[in-house]
Amino acid sequence: MFKNIPFERVQWITSSFLIGTLALAVTAVPLYLILVSTGTWFLWALFFFYTAATGLSITLGYHRLFSHLAFKAKRPVKWFVILFGAAAWENSVITWSSEHRRHHKHVDHDDDPYNINLGFWWAHMGWLMFKLKPEAPIDNVKDLEKDPALVWQHKYIHFIAAFMGFVLPTLICGLYYGSWMGALGGFLIVGVLRTVIVQHATFFINSACHYIGSQPYSSTHSARDSWLMAIFTFGEGYHNYHHEFQHDYRNGVKPWQIDPTKWTIWLLSKVGMTSDLRRVSEAKILLAEIQQARSRIQQGLDYCGGDQFTEAARLKLQASIDALHHAQEELAARYDHLQTVVKDRVEFSKGRVAVWRRELREAMTHLDEILEFDLVPRAV
Ligand SMILES: [Zn+2]
Ligand SMILES: [Zn+2]
Repeated sequence: MFKNIPFERVQWITSSFLIGTLALAVTAVPLYLILVSTGTWFLWALFFFYTAATGLSITLGYHRLFSHLAFKAKRPVKWFVILFGAAAWENSVITWSSEHRRHHKHVDHDDDPYNINLGFWWAHMGWLMFKLKPEAPIDNVKDLEKDPALVWQHKYIHFIAAFMGFVLPTLICGLYYGSWMGALGGFLIVGVLRTVIVQHATFFINSACHYIGSQPYSSTHSARDSWLMAIFTFGEGYHNYHHEFQHDYRNGVKPWQIDPTKWTIWLLSKVGMTSDLRRVSEAKILLAEIQQARSRIQQGLDYCGGDQFTEAARLKLQASIDALHHAQEELAARYDHLQTVVKDRVEFSKGRVAVWRRELREAMTHLDEILEFDLVPRAV
């Protein structure tokens, strides 16, 4: 069973940490809850605070602020991210951002550190447990290396992580409850269980968000939009949009999409703690959606032209096929128009955006009719 594992490439310290914390989370944590205590409101409040603080430090800080420079942040926000981000046990801002920038630059190819083409498990955590290739140099984060606070975090990352991630919650609970068992609860629930949850939520962005969901903006890469993943990842589940427009501070760009990281950045900007929030223009986003819709419609029409359908089925679907042909022509004209809007930075009215979006949705409904029809057993 183990003969295919390249033992000489195993990262023993990282692997032991990942497996050890996971093992404690599924054994010691339930035993503590059953045999010692289910915890009072204080323990669970601290757990939720720590989950949000460390999770958001990764999504808002490590990811959108430092890796993508999607907005600017004042010193208190930066230091919060530096301290609580370390407690997520995902290495320093400098290392994390370097790997992440390589992921965007080489997505789905050899130099992508978490290349999904090597499988779900590899993209999830395998890439951390095995080093199949020599470590790539950290040469794409020169801007971050100029920040003394980030250099300090990079230098002492394991001490900061141990203190903020494990020692501090253990101390807080020990002092609050005044007992060793109270301290143990802080270590197991707020330290270990929270670390495992936040780490796997981040890992899911590299694995599941390149695996499940839709591709409304582009299919030139494997990234996908999934509202379900967005719930577990503070909004990072809208990964197709993110790979298309990585400098936008929003991942869930539509007003109704679940993106707590976006909401937090926006709220912080209202109290002067963040500024220069970068947004891609409506016209540019719509252009990408139309382009993507056109290629999907073309695939749908090619599919209808093949021999998948009986003549009777084709007749039944004729209205949808006609609608798609019509939509294809309309979208081509819209596309050309939008290209000039984007190129010449012309004002583009919100009203028109709404009308074109509605047309786009209708075209996609016709496409879904055709694709769903194929799922029904066909007449022979
Ligand atoms: Zn990605
Ligand atoms: Zn990114």
